[in-house]
Amino acid sequence: MSVRACLSPLASSLSRLLTACCALAMLGTASLPPALSAERPAKQLFGAAALPADMKPQSIGFYSRGCMAGAVGMPVDGPNWQTMRLSRNRRWGQPELVRILQDLSVKAARDGWSGLMVGDMSQPRGGPMLTGHASHQIGLDADIWFTPMPPERLTYEQRENLSAISMLKPKSFYVDDKRWTKAHENLLRDAASYKEVERILVHPGIKKKLCDTVKGDRAWLAKIRPNWGHNYHFHLRIACQDGSPGCKKQNPVTGGQGCDASLDWWFNVGLVPKKPSKRKKPVKPKPELRLSDLPSACAAVLDAPAKPADEADLKVRDASFSAPAIAIPAYDPAMARRSKPIEARGATAATPASAPPPGAIPTPTRRPRD
Ligand SMILES: [Zn+2]
Repeated sequence: MSVRACLSPLASSLSRLLTACCALAMLGTASLPPALSAERPAKQLFGAAALPADMKPQSIGFYSRGCMAGAVGMPVDGPNWQTMRLSRNRRWGQPELVRILQDLSVKAARDGWSGLMVGDMSQPRGGPMLTGHASHQIGLDADIWFTPMPPERLTYEQRENLSAISMLKPKSFYVDDKRWTKAHENLLRDAASYKEVERILVHPGIKKKLCDTVKGDRAWLAKIRPNWGHNYHFHLRIACQDGSPGCKKQNPVTGGQGCDASLDWWFNVGLVPKKPSKRKKPVKPKPELRLSDLPSACAAVLDAPAKPADEADLKVRDASFSAPAIAIPAYDPAMARRSKPIEARGATAATPASAPPPGAIPTPTRRPRD
């Protein structure tokens, strides 16, 4: 409903309704159809969007509670990348992120990495996702596989079904030296080299490998943050960008290179499975985010017209590049929900028989800040 419609003459008995109606219109929410109710799970609303909001690019809110306007697409193919799991429709981000990924693909290729296999970025309008990921909501996060890009162009089906490769030894928290290469180290160093990149999340075993082996300049290790999972891919996060006043910054990284007791915590506490507690208290699932839990500007993002599909991607810089076009089925949230995890079934990092003995430095009892 438009503001003008609200201002048309109405009987006095309707005056209260009129006031409420116009107030909502001013907030930009009055035109939301009932399907966009503020109380519906936000993941259903944002997970239904096929294309970005045709608005000025902007990140709104926090990495794990927000949305984005004016996203651009990472093209499906580039000279040094291929995007994966296309049915999920998560190859969207803010222009700064997509530019960095395209640039990184070139830089890393010069340093021996054949190309990026680009995993989940954000949904076209960001927001909570239908499956997985607490973050990736404001267009500043991207997952990159630790598997180098194959020389051939993958088909749609291959991009749906191919599994990434874990960097860990089976049933271990530690890197498999048969899989880990100098090119992996170079890739992470190149990714950390951008001033906009604030954090790169990896499995603690990978962080340990870097701590044990990186020679020369080690300052970039400060950006490499240990976290659960992240043995099949790493997660690159950039800072809030200029022109996004509603983007909520994450605390800056602290604690130097992080090759210390804060890393021991992972091997002695964080990764060690908890003993089943005797008191069987059912774990309450976290309540799902509703549209009303997100910044109010996210309702306008959902409601905005879509960018035309053929103008939505950030162009590949190398104008001479071409790849055989892939037929991508129209976006269907049900297909996104069913898409395969990138981990091969049964090959996830398992628990070692026992945790290693604690080091000389006392291990913190609480999780170190990430
Ligand atoms: Zn991620």
